[in-house]
Amino acid sequence: MNQSYFSLLNKIYFGQKIIHYFTIGILVSFFISCSLNARSNNKPIKNYFKGSEEEIHFGRLSPIDFKFRSSSCTSTYNCTHNLFDSNRSTEWISKVSSEPEWVLVDFSSKRLMNRLEWEISENSAKIEEFQIQVLFHEEWQTIRTIASPPGIGSVNFGNIDASTLRIYFPKSKESQFSLKNLRILLNNSILTGIPQRLTGYTLPIPNVLIPEDEYSLPGAPRKYRNGIHKGLDLFQVINKEGNISVMNFNTPAVAINDGEIVRADIDYSPMTLRDFTEISEYNKSHPVTYVNKDFGGRQIWIDHKNGVMSSYNHLSAISSHIKVGTKVRKGEIIGKVGNSGLKGEANGTAEQIHLHIEIWIDGEFLGNDMKLSEMKKFLQYFFSE
Ligand SMILES: [Zn+2]
Repeated sequence: MNQSYFSLLNKIYFGQKIIHYFTIGILVSFFISCSLNARSNNKPIKNYFKGSEEEIHFGRLSPIDFKFRSSSCTSTYNCTHNLFDSNRSTEWISKVSSEPEWVLVDFSSKRLMNRLEWEISENSAKIEEFQIQVLFHEEWQTIRTIASPPGIGSVNFGNIDASTLRIYFPKSKESQFSLKNLRILLNNSILTGIPQRLTGYTLPIPNVLIPEDEYSLPGAPRKYRNGIHKGLDLFQVINKEGNISVMNFNTPAVAINDGEIVRADIDYSPMTLRDFTEISEYNKSHPVTYVNKDFGGRQIWIDHKNGVMSSYNHLSAISSHIKVGTKVRKGEIIGKVGNSGLKGEANGTAEQIHLHIEIWIDGEFLGNDMKLSEMKKFLQYFFSE
């Protein structure tokens, strides 16, 4: 298959990474031994931060900017990020071993915190104990030991002003346990996690493949349009048998979540070649706007409330019941994909059929100022239905 695409719902993308994660597994073992050596040799502190996952953070999209790591990641489905995704159906699973395990949250600068909440998965091995640790003079200092933690639990540990907190599991026998919903709080306000308003969306086209190349993702430069790409360009779908196909004028677009239609270009008139040439010329030196006819073509915008909106571009049709004010449900068909606003439409061909979808969070496009790796991870949270 085309290696530049990955599906968030299928195993295509992740399936290709098995060897990669095997390599990471070896590296993790190496880092753990480095880490243990570091303690005895008084090596620089950075060795304590080695772990199974890339350091990522979501900036303003999480309540507080934080990074996380853990001692192990058994599969891409069960890595550390699942601890912080506000999703109770996903979990972090440790490896089967007697070695200690840990999860680390790094706030980058000192931060006041006073409570930890956790959930141990139903099928997890019993956890004998865990320790809450903070770094003190480059050594981990245990501030609280929780013996026989309950399945769903919390502990107030007094006000701690620390930049890094570690949950340390001193395993003594071969076991594999799983956790979900790890939360660090200050006076009941959560410091770690993805807000629920930014999770649980469904993909805008059933079984669509999300492109992996930067050019098709938000934030990519569009010099010829005097700006940057603000959306996700979706070109391909995959069926149950794993066959990939491009979209056509009948490919349905669905609402990514419940919401209210705030724009529906029912009276859209197709772009002529002359329109297209004029607009292209103008936008070489002017930023694209959504005020008038532009490259977005026939559009639908949905307000999902809580500061989240989506815009569907290049549609070939809008479902007959859709107009401004229509309430839509998650997964409901709202139109069909197409190439409106693009040269394909101006030429009267089926070229360039795709869905360009933008997701605006508090008026800013999703992906703005995010690194590619962060955005991809974020998309997993966002489309997590
Ligand atoms: Zn696009």
